[in-house]
Amino acid sequence: MKKHSYPLYYDEPYRTTLETNVVSVEGSKVILKETIFYPEGGGQGGDRGTVNSCAVLDTVKGDDEAIIHMVRDPAFKTGDRVTLNLDWNRRFHFMKNHTAQHAASGILFNRFGIGTVSVHLGDEVMTIEVDRDEVADSVGLELQSLVNRAIVEGHPVASKTTSHKDAEALGLRRSIKVDGDVRLIHIDEVDTIACGGLHVSNTREIGLFLYQGQERIRGHARLIFIVGETAWDRILLNRTIVDQLGTLYSSPPSSLVETVAKAHEVAASEKALLDQVRSRLASVLLDLKLSQETGPLPVITWELEDDITLKDLGQAASRIAELALCAIQRLEDGKLAWLIVLTGDGAKKLDIAKHRSELLSSINGKGGGKAPIFQGVGEGDPAELFARFRDLLK
Ligand SMILES: [Zn+2]
Repeated sequence: MKKHSYPLYYDEPYRTTLETNVVSVEGSKVILKETIFYPEGGGQGGDRGTVNSCAVLDTVKGDDEAIIHMVRDPAFKTGDRVTLNLDWNRRFHFMKNHTAQHAASGILFNRFGIGTVSVHLGDEVMTIEVDRDEVADSVGLELQSLVNRAIVEGHPVASKTTSHKDAEALGLRRSIKVDGDVRLIHIDEVDTIACGGLHVSNTREIGLFLYQGQERIRGHARLIFIVGETAWDRILLNRTIVDQLGTLYSSPPSSLVETVAKAHEVAASEKALLDQVRSRLASVLLDLKLSQETGPLPVITWELEDDITLKDLGQAASRIAELALCAIQRLEDGKLAWLIVLTGDGAKKLDIAKHRSELLSSINGKGGGKAPIFQGVGEGDPAELFARFRDLLK
């Protein structure tokens, strides 16, 4: 393919439409005389849009540096006059994110001495991998304030091309990765760096910059940000959530955190109280069952309701001197939880170690435990388990 698709996006980064000629079409790969579509590179995705009415799915750089438009079913041929229309929302999103990244990396370096290792501009988030294994969240939040201040102050963003030697003499925060002349991006009072990407012309256009936390990658901290409309959407969503929580907790936003924390405290102490009551209820209900038994060794089989737990029943039962108890409780997924407690003669009559598989095969069960409490899970009809339990105790 011929080296063409002359880039116009550096001189006219805000241009969204262009008429030009088709130089070549090979399958879905289209090369034009000129282009306003930025190809994938420098952590930024390739532009999308249309050539005539055909969708441009991606824009990439070929081996010979020609810019290739990846077009779905191109309905034109070499020599045709065509109209390009850029997906501006997507491009502008990247321009804002990219400029925000320069400002953030510049401030990270100048203010905190933290270097940038790599960057990624995503459809949602923008990330900066730094030369530290961890960055305090307070630094992320201070950075958020400083970048937003630079946005409000409206610093001009300019590009200029200079000789490699002159660029090297500036002592930039990152080494220059191109040979020959260097394109410098200068954000007034904030940052100067060599870059081949596209940027907004004033920091004010970034709109908003939010720090979203960090993750670890390759032994480095990767800081996560959202920018522009994505950030505004998040703020507005959070505002709605705060309003809804405020209604739910009958609290103004200013005291919402305190109100929710208190509600959690109350819930925790009420749960502790409820646990105590359930535990006592297990003892009371067990006593009631025992009062109906007449033999020297009470044998109880019991399908529990939800008001008490097997754990509480196990503890209550283990305190009874003479008992053979087999209880089950149905779990949410339809399976069974089983509990066996054997004390006194119960333990002598039924050797769990010996009869465990015989007992549990009735409910395809598994589990174990330590005398006098055994428990596990299974499935099927509890009546089978209860019948075998009683048989083994005869
Ligand atoms: Zn850049």
